[in-house]
Amino acid sequence: MKYLSYRHADGHEGVGVVIGSRVIDLAVPGARDGISPMRRLLEASDGVLPTAVASTADSPAFDFDLDEVEVLPVVPDPTKIVAAPVNQDAHVDALGVFLKAPSSVLADRGTVQLPYRDRRFDQEGELALVIGRRARNVEPADVWRHIAGYTCLLDMTMRGGEDRSVRKSFETFTPVGPYLVTPDEVGDPRDLRLRTWVNEELRQDADTADLIWDVAALVAYTSTVMTLQPGDILTTGTPAGVGRVRDGDTVTVEIGRVGRLSVTVSSAGAVDCPTRGADRGPKPPETVTPVRRRCS
Ligand code: MN
Repeated sequence: MKYLSYRHADGHEGVGVVIGSRVIDLAVPGARDGISPMRRLLEASDGVLPTAVASTADSPAFDFDLDEVEVLPVVPDPTKIVAAPVNQDAHVDALGVFLKAPSSVLADRGTVQLPYRDRRFDQEGELALVIGRRARNVEPADVWRHIAGYTCLLDMTMRGGEDRSVRKSFETFTPVGPYLVTPDEVGDPRDLRLRTWVNEELRQDADTADLIWDVAALVAYTSTVMTLQPGDILTTGTPAGVGRVRDGDTVTVEIGRVGRLSVTVSSAGAVDCPTRGADRGPKPPETVTPVRRRCS
C-alpha cells in the first residue's frame, strides 16, 4: 500500500491510501494540534500500517483524484531525520549517523531553494525508511516491526567545511516522498535499484545491496543512541555519483518498488554566504560516474 500525506483544495490536511489515480482519505481520528495525520496514523498503528483499504477504514470519508490534492512531505513533521553518511564501500569515511533539521522536509514536485549564490550544492539520492513504532536499543533482527515503510529521499548538501548539520539542514533540503510504501510491497530493502538523474543526466545508478549500512544495522545502531519515534525518517546514505546542482535543474530519484521523487532547483533570492567553509573539507567524493553492480 502507498500512503500519502496531502492537503486538499479546501485546506483539509490528511493522510490517504493511493490506489491508481485515486486517494482514499483515512479520516484519522483523534486530531491533535501540531501533529500531522500521518504521525497520528503511525502512532495509532503501532508500527504496522494496514495493507488493505477495507481494514483501514470502514467508510472512507473522502475519495479524491490524485490531481486534486497538494502532495505534502510524506511525514510533514518528523521529530527527527537521521542520516547515514555516503554509504558505499569505496567512499565510507566514518561510520556513524548525523541529524538533519526536521524543518528541511520538502514534498514531491517542490522546489529546492539554494540559499547562497557563491557556494556549491550537490544532490544525494537515497533510500529512506519511516519509523512506525517507538524503537530503543533494538536488535538488528527485530528492527522490522519498527519500520512502517520506505520512501525516496534527496539529501541536498552544501559542500564545504561547515558542520554537516548546517550544510544539510537548509529549508527545502530534504525532499521526501511521494509515498510511504509498506514493507509487504517493497520486499527486501537490500534488493532495490536506485537511480538519480539531474535533468537528463543519469548520475547515480546503484543497488541497495551495496550499502555498507543496511537498513537493519542503521535502525539498530541509531536506536542505541536515541529513541526513534513514529514518523521519524532514517535515510540510508547515498551511493557514488554525487554531483553539483544549479538553478533550473530538475533532480529525480527513482527506487524500484518505492517510487519516484522529483524536484526543481532554484537560486532565486540567493545571497552571498556569510560563513567561510567553501574551500575546507569535508567534501563528498569527486566521482560523478555512476557505479552499478549486481543489478541485472
Ligand atoms: Mn546523504
